[in-house]
Amino acid sequence: MMEDVHSADHGHDVNRLIQELTACRVALENVDALQQTFWKTLRVGVAIHDAETGVVARNDVARQLLGIADGPAPRTPSENPAWRLAREDGSEMPREEYPVNIVLRTGRTLDNYIVGIIRGGEDPIAWVLVNAAPVAGGNGGVTRVVVTFVDISERMQVEERLRLLAEKDALTELPNRRAFGDILDREWRLAVRYNLPVSLVMIDIDFFKAYNDQYGHLAGDECLIRVSGTMVNALRRPTDFLARYGGEEFVLLLQNTDINGAVTIAEELRECVEKLQIPHAGSPATGCVTISLGVAQTSPKRDARISELLLDADNALYRAKYLGKNQVVVAGE
Ligand code: GH3
Ligand code: MG
Ligand code: MG
Repeated sequence: MMEDVHSADHGHDVNRLIQELTACRVALENVDALQQTFWKTLRVGVAIHDAETGVVARNDVARQLLGIADGPAPRTPSENPAWRLAREDGSEMPREEYPVNIVLRTGRTLDNYIVGIIRGGEDPIAWVLVNAAPVAGGNGGVTRVVVTFVDISERMQVEERLRLLAEKDALTELPNRRAFGDILDREWRLAVRYNLPVSLVMIDIDFFKAYNDQYGHLAGDECLIRVSGTMVNALRRPTDFLARYGGEEFVLLLQNTDINGAVTIAEELRECVEKLQIPHAGSPATGCVTISLGVAQTSPKRDARISELLLDADNALYRAKYLGKNQVVVAGE
């Protein structure tokens, strides 16, 4: 009798257990489906990186941004991924600066780190904002890193366009004085390092105030566009850099060019502007628009100053004006 009761109880327990297990399984399946949906619809790239084995999980967004074909996470070690990373300035990022490696080394969370993903083939760099967090293992050390990243490529493109616009003169479309300053700094450092001659040519339109007074400001603008255009066309080497320095003043930087080369180019610029034959009644000698040019050259030593070269070229230009305009004068002569 006792036995029967016991076995009835037993059957009841088993039934309940089965019911509970079924409920558990359904609940787990629901969680799993929820997780899958969450993982799939998340618009943020997520990759989980194991310190030993590399990437162990990632979602579709991560795969797309990393330029990886469909399929399971690779078993290859993380030291040799299909992609490489770039710094914000576009230069290649050394591996010790990779977000995962920083987190593994410091054990700290990394916030809002801008990284470019250099993918294979023709794919452009994908710019992403990265957050990376450490996951501690059993012994307290960091064993895994959870990396999340959002695509900011479009924003970076807009910023790049704005930057280029800010460096371009709106009227002549030449680089402006600020852009010239940046290029001059860079070329100057190169010239110091490799002991190269650098030449500068300062250029100024003659009697331009009179031109504006006689033909109007709009015609003056048109004249600036034609003069700068013809000078750009006369330059041959890709490293010759012409910028609008101010109102009707231009500056030409000639890398790795000695004084003779610089004078030749300056004389060519003078000739091509004169050849435009833009009528200018207020220019007594020629009756057309002309330019004056001052040339200076140096092979800068480590402690040399850019401002001295600029001043030399400016003084030479001043002398060209003084000597009657429409001519090239070399600094110190
Ligand atoms: P010099 O032969 O000695 O160079 O005399 P200049 O008249 O050319 O020089 P000055 O510095 O007296 O006058 C420059 C003129 O250039 C005055 C200014 O109105 C004009 N200018 C500067 N920027 C622009 C511009 O963007 N458009 C127009 N139309 N004129 C400009
Ligand atoms: Mg001037
Ligand atoms: Mg002038």
